[in-house]
Amino acid sequence: MVKGSALASLIVLLWTTSLSAQTIYPIDRAEILAGAQFDFKVEFPGPVDPAKLKVTVNGADYATAFGRSATFIDREDGKEQSALILRDVTLTTPGSIAVDVSDGTRQRSITWTVYDTGPRKAKNVILFIGDGMSPAHRVAARILSKGISEGKSRGKLAIDDMPHMALVATAGSDSIITDSANSASAYATGHKAAVNALGVYADRTASPFDDPRVETITSLARRRLGIAIGVVTNTEIEDATPAAMVAHTRRRAAYDEIVEQLFAAKPDVLMGGGSANFLPKSAAGSKRKDETDYIAKFRDAGYQVVTTAGELGASAAKPETSKLLGLFATGNMDGALDRKFLRGGGVKKFPEQPDLTEQVQAALNILAKNEAGFFLMVESGMIDKYAHLLDMERAVFDTIMLDNAVRQTREWARARGEDTLILVLADHNHPNSLVGTVNDDMGTAPNVPLRERVGVYDQAGFPNYPAPDAEGYPARIDVSRRLAIFSASLPDHYETFRPKLDNPNEPTVKGAEDGTFKANDRYKDVPGVVLRPGNLPAMIGASVHSGEDVILTATGPGSERVQGSMDNTEVFRVIADALGLAAAH
Ligand SMILES: [Zn+2]
Repeated sequence: MVKGSALASLIVLLWTTSLSAQTIYPIDRAEILAGAQFDFKVEFPGPVDPAKLKVTVNGADYATAFGRSATFIDREDGKEQSALILRDVTLTTPGSIAVDVSDGTRQRSITWTVYDTGPRKAKNVILFIGDGMSPAHRVAARILSKGISEGKSRGKLAIDDMPHMALVATAGSDSIITDSANSASAYATGHKAAVNALGVYADRTASPFDDPRVETITSLARRRLGIAIGVVTNTEIEDATPAAMVAHTRRRAAYDEIVEQLFAAKPDVLMGGGSANFLPKSAAGSKRKDETDYIAKFRDAGYQVVTTAGELGASAAKPETSKLLGLFATGNMDGALDRKFLRGGGVKKFPEQPDLTEQVQAALNILAKNEAGFFLMVESGMIDKYAHLLDMERAVFDTIMLDNAVRQTREWARARGEDTLILVLADHNHPNSLVGTVNDDMGTAPNVPLRERVGVYDQAGFPNYPAPDAEGYPARIDVSRRLAIFSASLPDHYETFRPKLDNPNEPTVKGAEDGTFKANDRYKDVPGVVLRPGNLPAMIGASVHSGEDVILTATGPGSERVQGSMDNTEVFRVIADALGLAAAH
């Protein structure tokens, strides 16, 4: 016991020591692309005398290394704490960089690595992100869209059938569990970030818009190569994954400001849901806090603005269309199951939303007009939203939709002679597992609880969904033997063991106490339903992300770098290398 508590005090001591040292951004062991811009910041735990400050980069005064002096802030945020900040600097010589900071009493040393790239290999890069796509979603998509007999799949998914594959670790700078903001930022910038942060290191100041920035792939690729930029999703366009391609804020929920940043960056193609934050406050359906009409601003800036699948197809077919803003719903768009089969969710309100495959085809048509090439990010983003809601069928249908978009893109790339690097991966996992089937033929007596219908091992057998249509979707999901995909992270909820045929699942509603959730009574009278006590805090109303590695598959020039075990920041490096981004400076 004594030993244990001595160890505990040592740990506390070390912890406190590390907290009181200077914080330097970019962080220790950051890997920085030669020529990529970043903000350099040092946060001192207390007030310091600028005369005693010594900051060196590989032994030379930082102002010499970066070419100019930083701003010294005596009392940052009005507190007894000083800081040094220097924005938009670059390092161009590859190698190890030692950064040493001393304020006369405290000293901190960290190391960065500046890396180069080879010459450009790919004309275009397309990054497909299945948000929250777990291995269970992939396997289920394969079973539904390809069929399986005697244990052998009748075909392969396009997302699986690639020459290069890796496992990608997803942790963020502040936690082993990442969200879509810091995971997409790692892909877009090559730097680790904290939960909720886009394109910045989250600093200690109150403002969510002053944090030290790191340059995004879209900024770099356009600045260095003049290539076109596309951002395509079926979530709100301001949501974390699409926003991370462009934006800089540590608060992903700052939708109004993210729209402003999207407008400032002006990607050539921008498509998704989320028109609510583009509309002026007084317009119907608006969620903006001001009267700025961003749809009008984009139109004035030369964009074709479309809101339906029909308009999208017509606009993309016009030879003169080079800039397009597509906003197909005020909030998230609807997934394939609701749009194509059940007409649930928001489909009645927005009946003419395009499929992700139509969005991708339109984006390819427009972006490929740029002689210099393009970078396109495509997100099948509702996989994650449905997984949070324990709505497995909808998540699997949107995995099939992603697969269709990837297959179509691979055919497009093949016809062009394979000049395009195509990457497909998830941004983080969901703790979902395929454990068997739910089999209505088991335990059919009236009083047998529904859990007795879960077939495991040999009793799982194979599901009996109807044969898939041309797009790989079975026409019905309420079959008598269906896939049982369960989450390992649960709020209190009613498990019905049945797909939700009216609207996406809503496992919880607000609880009696502020900030808590409870099981949604709407499902409590479903025959045979089980009230499943959660294993998460009551403040969490949905299933959560998990920290397992995600699968990355790749094909095309530069894809050979995808192999073995990788960190999520290395995905950026694969893209930078394929485009020869450092070689271009
Ligand atoms: Zn999520």
